Amino acid sequence: MNEPAKEEQKDEQLVPEETPLPEKTPAKEKTLAEQAPSSYECRSCGYVYVPSKGDSQGKVPAGTLFTELSPDWRCPVCGVRKTQFVNIGAQGAPSGFAENLDYGLGINRLTPSQKNILIFGALGIGFLFFLSLYGLH
Ligand SMILES: [Zn+2]
Repeated sequence: MNEPAKEEQKDEQLVPEETPLPEKTPAKEKTLAEQAPSSYECRSCGYVYVPSKGDSQGKVPAGTLFTELSPDWRCPVCGVRKTQFVNIGAQGAPSGFAENLDYGLGINRLTPSQKNILIFGALGIGFLFFLSLYGLH
């Protein structure tokens, strides 16, 4: 049950000075979802506070972490205190989208217009085949 921080310090000491390691190396292992601030859900009404959106009703600017909210902040829907909120982890993080980009044989990297060209191009080829069948008569 030792603090993980101590282990990290050991690792840094073991690294030879010849090897320049960027300071951001530990963060690199985290996914975008883990880096994203956690959202909190109201146990009373189910309202979810998303840090990237803030709380327009409570005049909380977007980007404010839940932990940074004033202790007086209340659920904009049902009015309970912060203590009634539970950490539900990062919501709507871009990581899922980024991961999806690597699937589907690159199709997901295409822009919508490129997809249209692909789809209509295939339709056009099919139509030409269709016409060629008539040409056989
Ligand atoms: Zn609530």
